[in-house]
Amino acid sequence: MNSSNQQPHNILIVDDLADNLRVLSHTLSQEGYKIRCAKNGAIALQVAVKVIPDLILLDINMPGMDGYEVCQRLKDAVQTKDVPVIFLSALNDVLDKVKAFEVGGVDYITKPFKVEEVLIRVKNQLDFQSAKAQIHLLNQELEQRVQQRTLQLKIANQKLADANQKLQQEIAERCKVEQQLIHDALYDGLTELPNRTLLMERIERALQRVKRNPHHLFAILFIDLDRFKTINDSLGHLVGDRLLVAISKIIQQDLRLTDTVARLGGDEFVILLDDIHSLQDATHVGDRLQEQLKLPLNCGGYSLVSSASIGIALSSSKYENSSEILRDADIAMYRAKEKGKACYEVFDEAMYIQTLKAVELERDLRLALINQEFTVYYQPIIALKDNNLSGFEALIRWHHPQHGLISPAEFIPLAEDTGLIVEIGDWVLQEACRVLSAWQQEYASRPDIAALKVNVNVASQQFQKPDFIDKLDQILAQTGLNPTCLKLEITERVLINSEINTQLTLTEIKKREIKLSIDDFGTGYSSLSYLSRLPIDNLKIDRSFIKNISCDRESLEIIKTIITLARNLGMETIAEGVETLAQAEQLKSLNCEYAQGYLFAQPMTAEEAIALILQDELKQSIH
Ligand code: C2E
Ligand code: MG
Ligand code: MG
Repeated sequence: MNSSNQQPHNILIVDDLADNLRVLSHTLSQEGYKIRCAKNGAIALQVAVKVIPDLILLDINMPGMDGYEVCQRLKDAVQTKDVPVIFLSALNDVLDKVKAFEVGGVDYITKPFKVEEVLIRVKNQLDFQSAKAQIHLLNQELEQRVQQRTLQLKIANQKLADANQKLQQEIAERCKVEQQLIHDALYDGLTELPNRTLLMERIERALQRVKRNPHHLFAILFIDLDRFKTINDSLGHLVGDRLLVAISKIIQQDLRLTDTVARLGGDEFVILLDDIHSLQDATHVGDRLQEQLKLPLNCGGYSLVSSASIGIALSSSKYENSSEILRDADIAMYRAKEKGKACYEVFDEAMYIQTLKAVELERDLRLALINQEFTVYYQPIIALKDNNLSGFEALIRWHHPQHGLISPAEFIPLAEDTGLIVEIGDWVLQEACRVLSAWQQEYASRPDIAALKVNVNVASQQFQKPDFIDKLDQILAQTGLNPTCLKLEITERVLINSEINTQLTLTEIKKREIKLSIDDFGTGYSSLSYLSRLPIDNLKIDRSFIKNISCDRESLEIIKTIITLARNLGMETIAEGVETLAQAEQLKSLNCEYAQGYLFAQPMTAEEAIALILQDELKQSIH
């Protein structure tokens, strides 16, 4: 029986002897095999291709076509080449057996055969064939699995290759992003110049070289454009940016590869001139830059002329780090700006000390308001016609906890620079109004005190604040001071600013019958046209003219002109800094209405001032 499909094995018996065929077919049929018989080779070949037998028992010695030839032909045919052939032969010759195997036989049974032997050999052969078939099947399965696995492996490999490629791409992109990040971290986006970080690194390296070799010299040039903000504000950021790019190119011109030009931000650039021989190498670059910047630059359709203030600091072993030398170059740059822009300054130690003082002063100034270190002093203003006290000028004083009394000339400019002047000025206004109002209330029966005026200095920034009038109203309401007793001293700088705001503020002040005085008159702008347009009450002739009134003809002429001008415009004049009787007499003879100065009194505390009023000392001191 065929074990794999339970079908009986199909056996073809080929023999020319009918007896043999009968015995064999009978025996094998009994064993369950399906038997076909052929009595010669030709029939056998025909039968074999019709239904392919599982085994052929083939007699060698047959008339016509012998067994060898039949076997040969079976093996040559595609359909039957794998059918096992067991030869049957009476000949027990070795040569025949060899031949039998040569033509493709698998076994050999000699006649006369024993039935048992035939059965065993048939069974063995069929088992062997079925085992072979199974092995073949298994092999095929195995082959399939191998192929499948190979395919899977191939797919996996492809996936891996794809993933690898993707990874490589990602790595390349990451590298690019990283490079970009590094670039962005070290370079300025607008000008593509190194930024502060990279500059600091390079200065640090240059400092290391100085440490190793004390003769190594380098310079830092701190460049700040003059009036860049004006260009930016008036022509727009786009033009401003173009100007910065154009200037960055100019700065880079003619420098060596070893030098670094960096942009710190805004309109600030720095040159690190490495390995120079002397200071002249640096000042030479400064000079050259100033010259180059004088040429007009075409930016967004505008022809712009720029200039820069430059601070130069030379390397030295005292510098511990890059910030220190950069700071010094910055200090020198500020000094250059103060000097009048478009120039350079070389840093020296005195500058540092001065800057340090200014920084400390600024810090202290911020605290001064909180700590109530300010007081207001009052300097009498005298009517020259009768030497009567007309009022006071309120002058701020700062009692510094360590440095004692600090002059306003020293801290007011700083307060203006930092914007603190607004708060400080408002406080003075409030305090001065409060004090005069308190005197007037306390001595309500005294008409002379009721008529007193207080002059308060108002800084330009204070005046320009949109809420200045509101504050003024608030202070007058709080202190109860009659507005006609208040006189605001403003400088020409405020008036030259022809903004609508300024005009409106002046009108509002006038509406409240508050008086307006132009301080330090004659020192400021020469344009006088504004005087006739604006509601001014007084001109305060600057101290510098009064000082020279007796010795300098020019000063006298100026004073005369100011007094005439004031009279023609319906204004009164106050002379500042009157120190001698002669000055006072002369001013009186020129019809100057009021005077203020050490001749009459120094600025004094509120207590001293009221005491003076009450004792009427002042008048006596002049007589
Ligand atoms: P200013 O408003 O021109 O004030 C007059 C200055 O001349 C005062 O100096 C005063 O003390 C001084 N002075 C008065 N008479 C004489 C004199 O006979 N000879 C000399 N040599 N000087 C005399 P001070 O108090 O040092 O103030 C200086 C400047 O500080 C003021 O000049 C004013 O511009 C500013 N200032 C003072 N207080 C304030 C304030 O509260 N606010 C604002 N914004 N500025 C103020
Ligand atoms: Mg004044
Ligand atoms: Mg003055």
